Amino acid sequence: MLRNEHLQKLADIVGEDFFSSAEYMNQLYSHDISALPGIVNDLINPHAEAVAQPTTSEIVSNLLKYCKENNIQVIPRGHGTSGYGGALPTKGGLVVDMTRMNEIYDIDKGSMTIQVGAGIIWGRLIEFLEDEGLSVAAYPSSAPSCTVGGWVAAGGCGIGSTKYGGIREQVVEMEVVLPDGEIISTIKPIDEVFKDDKPEPFFKGDKKFYWESEVGSENNEESTSMFIDSNGTLGIITKVVLSIIPIRKIKPMTISFPNKEQTMGAMQAILRITRPFYLHFITDEFFGMLKELDKAPDVAGEWLVLCALEGTEEENNEFAEKITKAIAMYHGTVESEEIGHHEWDERFYPMRVKRLGPSVAPSEVYVPLERMVDFIDHCNKHFKGERMAMEGAVNHRNEVAVLTWFLDDERRRIPFMFGWYRSLDVINIGIKKGGRAYSIGMWNVAHSRQFYGKEDYTKMAKLKKRTDSKSYLNSHKVFPGPLYLSTRIGLLIMLAAAIAVLIAIMVAWWIVPSILTAYVPWVVVNDPATFLLWAIVGVGVGFAVQEFANLIPISVVLSMGTPFLRLGRKIFH
Ligand SMILES: Cc1cc2nc3c(=O)[nH]c(=O)nc-3n(C[C@H](O)[C@H](O)[C@H](O)COP(=O)(O)OP(=O)(O)OC[C@H]3O[C@@H](n4cnc5c(N)ncnc54)[C@H](O)[C@@H]3O)c2cc1C
Repeated sequence: MLRNEHLQKLADIVGEDFFSSAEYMNQLYSHDISALPGIVNDLINPHAEAVAQPTTSEIVSNLLKYCKENNIQVIPRGHGTSGYGGALPTKGGLVVDMTRMNEIYDIDKGSMTIQVGAGIIWGRLIEFLEDEGLSVAAYPSSAPSCTVGGWVAAGGCGIGSTKYGGIREQVVEMEVVLPDGEIISTIKPIDEVFKDDKPEPFFKGDKKFYWESEVGSENNEESTSMFIDSNGTLGIITKVVLSIIPIRKIKPMTISFPNKEQTMGAMQAILRITRPFYLHFITDEFFGMLKELDKAPDVAGEWLVLCALEGTEEENNEFAEKITKAIAMYHGTVESEEIGHHEWDERFYPMRVKRLGPSVAPSEVYVPLERMVDFIDHCNKHFKGERMAMEGAVNHRNEVAVLTWFLDDERRRIPFMFGWYRSLDVINIGIKKGGRAYSIGMWNVAHSRQFYGKEDYTKMAKLKKRTDSKSYLNSHKVFPGPLYLSTRIGLLIMLAAAIAVLIAIMVAWWIVPSILTAYVPWVVVNDPATFLLWAIVGVGVGFAVQEFANLIPISVVLSMGTPFLRLGRKIFH
């Protein structure tokens, strides 16, 4: 709990104008893009106590030093557009909103890099570069509202990733403020991507724009790679240097197919011909929902693929012709240019289907392209009867970032609570098919080790321990830690345990009084004082159980709870 003296000191550090502990601000910063069921809100208690909007790296450093010294929880935040719980408070504390650190510092056309403040919105950066005839190589479909630092910290793929890779492949260097307040510049030792191990079938782009891979740093703690995907657990990113590319022509093609087998087959065929800038599909059920919203184009088949080619006009036309020929055997229809452009323009609105909800339970997981048919079949069977829209975009490694939207209604508290597990189940199904979690945040913390790999995870944990042994910076994210139940849930657990003890003693009271008195001589049965004594014992046991529950990591609670939620969904849906 932040005391008045803390609030005053924090306001002094960041400046009165950029600090607030007003309740309405705290409410605003206690959510991310996902709607959470009441029970989960109770479990993690995502309530911000104050918000700071620093404007310089030095201020971030001073904030972190003070918070570490005073054991105040700190939660870094971009624009809160992620849904993995990474930007949510878990034990109150200070939310550090980075959106005021949004400068464009330097553009270097020699090395084709740009240095920006971590809080800049992608959309603004893209517009700025466009005026220079340049572009970023990939951007998320939330680009109109999310920050560069947020995408670096959450990780992932987006538009452009089929050809150029995700955010990991674009970041060259960063300035990061470590949890102990030290400001460091990260280093990215580079080599040509996939030069030795996988020269084919990966597209290498222009010579200048090879994907880059790390070849190891002498000082691992300053490796750029370590901080990407780390969800703000290892430090607050304040500046980012990104690779940039010249703008080229985009030729969007919309191709419709009759079924999933043809769709997935054709997507693989396209990748054998070229690496489009963006290769994306929607399922027939997604298409059906767009139809309901009057947003579906008039097309031949109900499985749609958007294939956006990037290059000179001649190159694009040449590949478009080859693709048109190749997809004929998959019964694909290349739709009109107008439809192609319509679908390309729609790329920023993946959440349109939410209007049918009125809520959605989203889930995202990587699945190898060649396992997609199997994955979709499995999901259809597992979630039979549910309204599920699915879309996916292929990345540079031929993994599909599959986004699943379940229509729901958060106003129906009980069914919504029981339906929440579906987001976790989709991820488990994806992993079974050879995939991996998309981003860790808080909800995927059970997959941390597999996601980062044992070696990287160990390095990250070592840095965390050295700079933040009490885990005051973004606790419960990436590294599973004790849960610390909210007071409400703690009291409920205590009450439940006390009642259980009382029921047990009542059974003993009526059924086995003689046994009890024989073996526990100080128990006097059939006496109100004894009942009172056992009630006190019950509360004591309840307290111990509650304290024990506090030590259980959220990942364990989530995996233990999933079968119950699944059963509940069957009953209440
Ligand atoms: C409509 C829509 C489309 C989307 N499309 C994509 C997509 O194409 N690809 C994709 O990968 N994701 C996508 N997302 C998810 C989300 O937008 C991205 O993860 C996004 O980049 C998060 O940025 P943000 O600024 O909102 O960060 P937040 O959501 O505020 O934070 C994300 C995580 O990063 C941490 N963080 C934020 N800023 C910093 C910082 N400066 N230093 C350290 N840690 C920090 C937070 O603590 C949190 O753990 C989409 C979301 C929506 C709603």
